[in-house]
Amino acid sequence: MSLSDQAILEQLQALDRMHHLHPFTDPQAVKKAAPFVIEQAKGAYITGQEIRLLDAMAGLGCVNIGYGREEMADVAAEAIRTLSYYHSFSAVSNPYAAALAGKIAALAPGDLNKVFFANSGSEANETLMKLAYLYWRRKGRPNKRILISREYSYHGSTLATTRLNGNRPMIEDFGLDGGADVIKAISPFWYRCGGDLEPEEFGVHAAKEIEKKILAAGADNVAAVIAEPVQGTMGAVVPPQSYWPEVARICKEHDVLLIADEVVTGFGRTGNWFAQETFGFQADMMTLAKGLSSGYAPISASVVSDEIADVIEGQSGVLQHGFTTSGHPLASALALKNIEIIGTEDHVTRVRTDIGPYFAKALKSLEDHPLVGEVRVSGLIAGIELAKDKETREQYPLEANICNHVSQMALVRGLIVRPAGNVVVLCPPFVITHAEIDFMVGVMRDALDETY
Ligand code: PLP
Repeated sequence: MSLSDQAILEQLQALDRMHHLHPFTDPQAVKKAAPFVIEQAKGAYITGQEIRLLDAMAGLGCVNIGYGREEMADVAAEAIRTLSYYHSFSAVSNPYAAALAGKIAALAPGDLNKVFFANSGSEANETLMKLAYLYWRRKGRPNKRILISREYSYHGSTLATTRLNGNRPMIEDFGLDGGADVIKAISPFWYRCGGDLEPEEFGVHAAKEIEKKILAAGADNVAAVIAEPVQGTMGAVVPPQSYWPEVARICKEHDVLLIADEVVTGFGRTGNWFAQETFGFQADMMTLAKGLSSGYAPISASVVSDEIADVIEGQSGVLQHGFTTSGHPLASALALKNIEIIGTEDHVTRVRTDIGPYFAKALKSLEDHPLVGEVRVSGLIAGIELAKDKETREQYPLEANICNHVSQMALVRGLIVRPAGNVVVLCPPFVITHAEIDFMVGVMRDALDETY
């Protein structure tokens, strides 16, 4: 379909406005402005309507190997020709899903060896909620039902995962509440919540706040703690190094499962295959999605330890959970090829030792700007925290729309970033170059100047 034909473009825009309900979007805004229809995406760039944009968000933090890769197109065509679809219920599998499960088990830290496939990060997290309940029931401890999540977290938008989130409008707009079976602990968000404590002291303090929640609820009632190693969506919150080992120790001591939501951080984003390695801890269960296929196909994985798998598989009885497209051949084939590309091009090492440190140094140079309170970076995920007063860390009221303005000023200069409250989030593809990072930082400084 050629979008260079103005009539076709306008027809598509009209259809979109009339019939397409967009996720996480104000429908009024879609009605007012003609949607930007993307024509093509290649490498780190998307183009449409004669505009070329450097995508410093890799879509939604997923297109790690870059857009439009020929090898991925070839694999997709071959997978569709070979086996366009078959389910994986009963003892039926397909070569791609079997090989992918094995690959994930080989790469995953510790004994995270058993993989369940779904389509999205939300489904992966909801799957683990259910597997945690199942695990404790099969261990004869059905009272362990409470889940502990944290402020500033994001785990998904299904009914169950929504209730885990730190994003209140997401819960309240639908008349939901946290419920007694979901408890929120504080985030290890030192800049906003650290008070007078040094970052490493605060890391231990924030972990101990989880322990207090476990003790208050009674460890016999708590199924799991679920947490993102780096809180991405709500502002790229990079925890102090002291935090994660202490959380893991506390969970072990109180016999509470630890679920690492590695939907964003998995597959190299923080400079190791998994952020558990970056932050020095081992979870009992983890979820993977975005970077699993670099967004080339919807696929996610819920991975559990041998011990959990033994309990779940140790009794006969059907696992009453699954999706029509669990282990989809096309999505699995694309995920396998994506992982192969990350390996052969050595992106994980590059993020850890080259492009990641370059990105961190370049972005940190913005900390001298009067609008910038803090720049946080882990590998290739970063948050630029805006502040009204750098000394007191006072924030702009959200109604002031400062962050949206900065992001808009970046966009008109050819750069896609993502506003999250008072934080500008950047999560570029791994194929980003040094020159593109220089461009990114230059644009961000101009956008900040324009806003200040
Ligand atoms: N978990 C984390 C940490 C995420 O960032 C996201 C999405 O941004 C999800 C889960 C939900 O994934 P999905 O949008 O694929 O359902």
